[in-house]
Amino acid sequence: MRGAAAVTGPKIELHVHLEGTVGPATLLAMARRNGEALPAHTVEGLAELYRFRDFSHFIQVWIMTTNVMRTEADFRQVVVEYAAQAAAAGAVYVEGIFSPWYRVHRGVRVEEIFHGYVDGAIEARERYGVEVRLTPDIDRVLPVDEAMRVADWSARFADRGSERLVVGLGLGGPEAEYPPEQFAPVFARAARAGLAAVPHAGETVGAESVRGALDALGARRIRHGIRALEDPALVRRLADERIVLDVCPVSNLRTRSVATLGEHPLRALQAAGVACSLATDDPAMFGTDLETEHAVAAGLGVRARDLYAAGVEGALCDEPLRARLRRIGAETDWDAAEQVARSAAPAALARLDPAVLAR
Ligand SMILES: [Zn+2]
Repeated sequence: MRGAAAVTGPKIELHVHLEGTVGPATLLAMARRNGEALPAHTVEGLAELYRFRDFSHFIQVWIMTTNVMRTEADFRQVVVEYAAQAAAAGAVYVEGIFSPWYRVHRGVRVEEIFHGYVDGAIEARERYGVEVRLTPDIDRVLPVDEAMRVADWSARFADRGSERLVVGLGLGGPEAEYPPEQFAPVFARAARAGLAAVPHAGETVGAESVRGALDALGARRIRHGIRALEDPALVRRLADERIVLDVCPVSNLRTRSVATLGEHPLRALQAAGVACSLATDDPAMFGTDLETEHAVAAGLGVRARDLYAAGVEGALCDEPLRARLRRIGAETDWDAAEQVARSAAPAALARLDPAVLAR
């Protein structure tokens, strides 16, 4: 663990798309070895293309990035490289998301995808001491029978030996056009295989989408969920049922779910008793990382110890690992860690927040 990580405290990240962690240098190397074309041929050129502009540009970059990834070695490398970055920022547990359907649709064998990601999780633990679990994602635009295939693959590849590394099933993509209810049978099937439901909801749609995720899909956690704040009864329910929200402030700013970081509802949700974990979503594309998110959260008045505790509570790991994560938290000097995050907050907000930039 690097010196900086030791002082900013341990971190649990539950909402990161592995495809969205791939930086320009890795992307370029993968494209070369797989013979895939990219619109730029240098790291600088790709970095410029990565710079976040708007949501449709983000989707173009996403498609470009994911199409380059084709082999078991690619998927493994993506996990290991992100684990190295996250561990350097203090991460001790990460739940990585990936979207297998489009890869299979483009001719990649499903075994290569799942074996590559699972191998990467094992290598990440061996090399960096960070525990990685995986939650494949269903794109909401998929027909239900195709979504069902993703659930079946996830169940089929969940275990490596006696250990379960694929622990949940997610739902992502355009929330407004595709409400969660139609996917109820898919998540019921996943639940029978012991996979928890961890859908995105309450990012671009309000309370009804979060309720749908809870009622129709049996969501164990909600990715984003910030618009739940519009409905006090729903906020109470999230608090009462101990539903953890995996909150990503910089992502919310980039996609304009919030206008400024200063208006981000993280603090208000927590104050209302809702457990919130903190994550990067798509760090390479949103120009963020775990340290930045923690500085932003500190700037909002949120304590790192509460984010960590929510991570322990929401993690889909087995109970012995949860106990170990809890012990790591108990042994941490949180006063010191929070002091460091608070001191980094002004610079992070000055770099990111339009409200601060406008002053
Ligand atoms: Zn996400």
